[in-house]
Amino acid sequence: MNPTSSVQTFRAIDVIRKKRDGGELSRGEIESIVNAYTRGDIPDYQVSAWLMAVVLRGMTRAETAALTDAMLRSGEVLDLSSLAAKKVDKHSTGGVGDKTSLVLAPLAAVAGVAVPMISGRGLGHTGGTLDKLEAIPGFNVNLPVAQFRHVLDTCGCAMIGQTAEIAPADRKLYALRDVTGTVESPYLICASIMSKKLAEGIDALVLDVKTGSGAFMKSERDAAFLAELMVETGERMGKQMVALITDMDQPLGCMIGNALEVVEVVDILRGEGPEDLLQLCLELAGWMLHLGGVSRTVAEGKKLSEKLIASGEALDRFRQMVELQGGDPRAIDDPRKLPQAQHSITVSSQKSGFLASLQCEQVGTACVILGGGRERKEDAVDPAVGIVLHKKVGDEVSAREPLATIYYNAETHAARARQLLEQSFVITDSPLREKRPLIHRVIGKPGEKN
Ligand code: URA
Repeated sequence: MNPTSSVQTFRAIDVIRKKRDGGELSRGEIESIVNAYTRGDIPDYQVSAWLMAVVLRGMTRAETAALTDAMLRSGEVLDLSSLAAKKVDKHSTGGVGDKTSLVLAPLAAVAGVAVPMISGRGLGHTGGTLDKLEAIPGFNVNLPVAQFRHVLDTCGCAMIGQTAEIAPADRKLYALRDVTGTVESPYLICASIMSKKLAEGIDALVLDVKTGSGAFMKSERDAAFLAELMVETGERMGKQMVALITDMDQPLGCMIGNALEVVEVVDILRGEGPEDLLQLCLELAGWMLHLGGVSRTVAEGKKLSEKLIASGEALDRFRQMVELQGGDPRAIDDPRKLPQAQHSITVSSQKSGFLASLQCEQVGTACVILGGGRERKEDAVDPAVGIVLHKKVGDEVSAREPLATIYYNAETHAARARQLLEQSFVITDSPLREKRPLIHRVIGKPGEKN
């Protein structure tokens, strides 16, 4: 391959130099570099140099929108216009114990919006929706597009992984970013996420941008910057957008690990389950129903969601989706049909006091060490392992009281995970003066009542 002559209309070197020197690239230049790379016409080393220039120099809003558009149009954009309902999805930037997608898809669907959800696997210390769904025996996340549509037509929601046809430019660019230190750019993250989400053929998107010790964006400032960028990019492309900045300074809910998280999803859909998880699910559902035109306000959307949980309709819809995607619906009603770990141990408090903080990333890493996530890309996950928290930040604790239970299959993993967990809990003598809110801010939709 000749790095400069195989593309006639542009020279990659010119685009690299322009970005290196802080210039603004035109839509045509961005399209050219994305398309040429996707076709294999320019080499990794030139695109790596360009990506690094973007990391260091940043992008304007117009450049970010052009990059998102070029990546989106590198593959298939689903045409779901035959569906009468508005198509609405939710995307989370990733966290620990975040299983809201499994609650929201059937809940929003039963309320009357269509939810075509294309999700990812666990990344680093965070869990992934596809890994959680695959904990349900038989559940198929690799449906061909025609079957995805059939499930969506039948029950109003469907949940699959990225197909080869969806945003192939992102697949190639993401793999390159992963090994060239160029993941951490809000512009590149925005284009990567938004290109995949917009390929779903949606009308509206609710973003859950996490902040805190278990999030990729540790500071609220960085989270808000990414949220604003994604909202603006989506709006430029004609989509209704909102972003909630939400707390990830401790795991969401009490269960971390794939099969355990399915159990907690079912608890929520039964009207039980932990308060923080329920609150976030209702808030996100409220926005999905509001943007989907089902409710006049977010508050109305939340109320309707509560009703659909109380009536059992949301749980019925989840069971139906599981069955349509090949999963064993009996696992929804009987958690013993989900994968079970062979052993468990508890982590107890050394002293009495109050749980002041929980190092959330370490809790996620402990779950990965148990086998609940991947240390290397090619690793298989163990769906049965995980952690159940018995205390959340702010709770009072007695000496020797259990803080968490570890479910494991391998002794060596359990010992490492236990050590990490023990270091994660910070117990203080006095109660917390102020608890971090679960919802920090809402970005977009100015003046919207919630
Ligand atoms: N998730 C994505 O899909 N892309 C990124 O760049 C980062 C997180």
